[in-house]
Amino acid sequence: MTDAGAAPDRTDDERFGLDDSFGTLLWSLFLAVSGMFAAYAAARFVAAALGVDQGAGGFLFTGILLASFGTVSIYLTSARPIRAALRQQREAVLASEREIRLESERHRFASQVQDAFEMGETEAEALEVASRALAAISDRRSEVLLADSSRAHLRQAAVSKVAGGAGCGVATPWACPAVRRGQTLRFTSSEELSACPRLIDRGEPCSAICVPVTVYGTPMGVIHVVGAADEGADSAMVDRWEVLAQQAGSRIGVLRAMEASELQASTDPLTGASNRRSLEAKVRQLREAGERYAIVFADLDHFKDLNDTHGHETGDRALRLFADVLRSNVRPDDMVCRYGGEEFVVLLPGLGRSFASERAEGLRIELQGALVAGDVPRISASFGVADSTQAGSAEEVIALADMAMFSAKTTGRDRVVVADATVRPAQVG
Ligand code: GH3
Ligand code: MG
Ligand code: MG
Repeated sequence: MTDAGAAPDRTDDERFGLDDSFGTLLWSLFLAVSGMFAAYAAARFVAAALGVDQGAGGFLFTGILLASFGTVSIYLTSARPIRAALRQQREAVLASEREIRLESERHRFASQVQDAFEMGETEAEALEVASRALAAISDRRSEVLLADSSRAHLRQAAVSKVAGGAGCGVATPWACPAVRRGQTLRFTSSEELSACPRLIDRGEPCSAICVPVTVYGTPMGVIHVVGAADEGADSAMVDRWEVLAQQAGSRIGVLRAMEASELQASTDPLTGASNRRSLEAKVRQLREAGERYAIVFADLDHFKDLNDTHGHETGDRALRLFADVLRSNVRPDDMVCRYGGEEFVVLLPGLGRSFASERAEGLRIELQGALVAGDVPRISASFGVADSTQAGSAEEVIALADMAMFSAKTTGRDRVVVADATVRPAQVG
């Protein structure tokens, strides 16, 4: 196992293979001059040894020898090192061009991923971007494992669009060594002594790279990539997984914070039910879409007495229990709203008042069932039902359901009354 590391720093002279010190210059001059003397002496010696006459022909011959030796000396002492230095410089320039190209590719990848993340409005869309980015980085099996805000469990949140998931079975953030250490870990082979325990028993030996994902400074997940045993990954590739992990973490953090504040603004803090604002927005949507809907208006019976007898705390518990009963017995698209103190409105899209009254009757019975197991004193609720075919505006439909609920109160409580001609506002008022 090794950590992803950086290349050691080198000075510019070392990078370009240059030494332009004064000492080196003097040494080159000394070599050149002594080379020429040596060549001259050798020429005289050779001329004498060969018995060449010292006249014009001999002088020419000696001159040629001298020039040859001089040229060789100059080449050996100056031209060759210069050529070598130039070659080194060329290689250094090529290497630096390569570095610039890699850096610009890295930058392009980072800004593409950032743009894609910023265009997504939900966590699901951000995870879709992560799936595509994993496939763009490499053709290895890879995935993003992510915890929700509670950080209790890691789940497979995104897999490579092309290669599929990597199949890590780690269950919690703290069970993952990369998340725990907050740094990228590389495992060259699952058969190594230092391999992550989650890599063993994957069927065949494999290598892995694990990059932690941090959301607002808190380790929340990991990008997990597997390859064949001993399959390496160059630093540019690791760098991209790290870029993706960093950007996925910050985007998901922003989206979760936005979702939490929207939820806060749209729900009742005591019961977790939607508030009136959300109800109005949803009704508006239905009206714009021309879809009909029914309203069930529910009000707890003698709730003041419950507060007075058992205390406000118990009253709060009763409100939460009633909200839970309503929420767990409606369809996903229905909305449960705390409309006032102990008054709730259930919005049922697509339903008329007849079906809605059956639902309300079911809710009334469920409340009694929930009380058997709970620690809340016996309570009941009165229900009024109306639908969008009975009035022009949402306020009027809700008022009609409220009137029907009032009728249920006056006729004995703990019952469902449907708004019809007998409970028109004029008659109830
Ligand atoms: P009815 O059967 O006619 O509806 O009688 P009721 O006592 O339920 O109605 P009333 O309107 O007289 O009393 C409503 C009570 O609900 C009064 C108020 O103190 C209580 N209440 C409103 N909001 C809360 C709350 O958030 N927590 C608690 N514990 N009580 C609340
Ligand atoms: Mg009331
Ligand atoms: Mg009441």
